[in-house]
Amino acid sequence: MSTSARLEDNVGFACTDLQCRQGRGSAVAMRWLGSDGQRSEYTFAQLADESSRFAAVLAGLGVAPGARVFVMLPKLPEVYVAFLGCLKARAVVGPLFANFGDDALLDRLGDARACVLLTKHSLLKKVHRIRDRLPDLRHILLVDVDDHLAADILSYRRLMREASADFVVAPTAPETPSLLHYTSGSTGKPKGVLHVHGALPTIVATTRDVLQVGPGDVFWCTADPGWVTGTSYGIIGPWAVGATQVHYGGSFDAGAWMAILEQEQVNVWYTAPTALRMLMREEASLYAGRRLETLRCAASVGEPLNPEVTFWARRTLGKEIHDTWFQTETGAIMIANRPGLAVRPGSMGQAVDGIEAVILDSAGQPLPAGQQGRLCLRRGWPSMFAEHLNRPGVYASRFHGDYYDSGDMAVRDADGYFWFVGRTDDVINTSGHLVGPFEIESVLLELPEVAEAAAVSAPDPIRFEKVVAFVCLRSGQSPSRELESRIRLHVANRVSSIASPQDVVFVASLPRNRSGKIMRRVLRARFLGQDEGDLSSMEAWHPGEIDDQRERV
Ligand code: ATP
Ligand code: MG
Repeated sequence: MSTSARLEDNVGFACTDLQCRQGRGSAVAMRWLGSDGQRSEYTFAQLADESSRFAAVLAGLGVAPGARVFVMLPKLPEVYVAFLGCLKARAVVGPLFANFGDDALLDRLGDARACVLLTKHSLLKKVHRIRDRLPDLRHILLVDVDDHLAADILSYRRLMREASADFVVAPTAPETPSLLHYTSGSTGKPKGVLHVHGALPTIVATTRDVLQVGPGDVFWCTADPGWVTGTSYGIIGPWAVGATQVHYGGSFDAGAWMAILEQEQVNVWYTAPTALRMLMREEASLYAGRRLETLRCAASVGEPLNPEVTFWARRTLGKEIHDTWFQTETGAIMIANRPGLAVRPGSMGQAVDGIEAVILDSAGQPLPAGQQGRLCLRRGWPSMFAEHLNRPGVYASRFHGDYYDSGDMAVRDADGYFWFVGRTDDVINTSGHLVGPFEIESVLLELPEVAEAAAVSAPDPIRFEKVVAFVCLRSGQSPSRELESRIRLHVANRVSSIASPQDVVFVASLPRNRSGKIMRRVLRARFLGQDEGDLSSMEAWHPGEIDDQRERV
């Protein structure tokens, strides 16, 4: 163990016992809102007690520091307890979306050599089907059975009842592995992004400075813990600063979400553009008379925030949405709109304190303000990922010298604001110009008929690549030649004739991954009739008739 190991650097301890030591034991840490209307509260003392019990359960099962424990559950209070308990025991916790299929699960548990899986009874079938290919998986814990089912299929409740809450957390060196998130990548197998306990200071600083969350605040992060936002800011940051977190077990529902903001008197709300675009589709009556005075800060992450959404939120909610940018690999917010910084609609904001963000060309040379290139970060910030599990070559390939390459394209303006262009793989190279999908999609949202849009590239003999726009219409609207023409003209007028889509495809919905992001590569592959690559992180998708429409256009 490193000589610098300290107790308060253990993330599980910092989020619970440390809060109790600072006098917040009886303060509410979590307000749990079940999908069935059930509501319960957990104090910091309860969270400290239960997470210690879970750490003791793991120790009792022989889980050594560094061993991998996975949690595959929908949002439930147990997810948060187990997550913190794993960290207290210095096991590496891997949160998984509950609806992963067999292969997705096998890839992740196998790659990480998981020794324990926490799940629920109805998901056991899935685990049984792949169990014989997981020789390292020693114990399956079920949250919803009262007694053990077999020597290796155990009841979480019974284990927790029998465990001691006197687990002693060991001083934890910053380089101790903490958390493993799998990112699906555009094609190959999912890659494990490993984080360390030493990420805590960056997560805490951004929670305070960007999200403006402090002790006693009511904070609501809508992300699932299967995604980095749901762990860095749906678990760690807010509890490490002593805030009360609202956790809602239901899925997206515009009415329920607005009621939560209002009734729970949320002070800070962290959500995603997809959710905001869905709220934007609702009738104005949903928002009339809403009392949102307590909501001090609203922030967004995960996808580009279209200016149209910013304008809608100002008009309808009377709130400014603060866009923030980060990714699984960065562990914490790197670029953001912060208090005191005027929001420029369409911009992600500026680099946060202590982070040097630059735009480099493909040879790794810095580009001046105004030129688009690769968004890179000077390596070495505390929450930077430690490795791609089992793939040192992939890890090394993400760095140009001292700079980590995010894989996103962006522009920095003369004032230091960053403007997202697109993922490097999604940028469209047409008629000698690099066109970002975000710009096209944002102007498409300006049309009253359009609910959502995605722009992708397709090969073109003359232009090298052409722009294909996938468009979802608002309810009551139907596709027409006239609308197609207007779509093309609008992009030509607002962006440029080069960016104007050659093909417009109307679809009932867009493919999304489980964190709600539009999967442009799937649209591109489907349009071209090509292999769609790894789909383990994709939600079920019902596009309508892409092929027929391609013929028609
Ligand atoms: P994979 O790496 O497997 O393809 P992913 O990149 O979608 O998965 P995350 O790490 O959760 O997984 O997402 C980070 C990415 O999301 C960023 O690299 C960027 O492309 C996008 N993103 C996040 N925040 C923003 C934002 N504010 N504006 C634009 N894009 C954003
Ligand atoms: Mg990524």
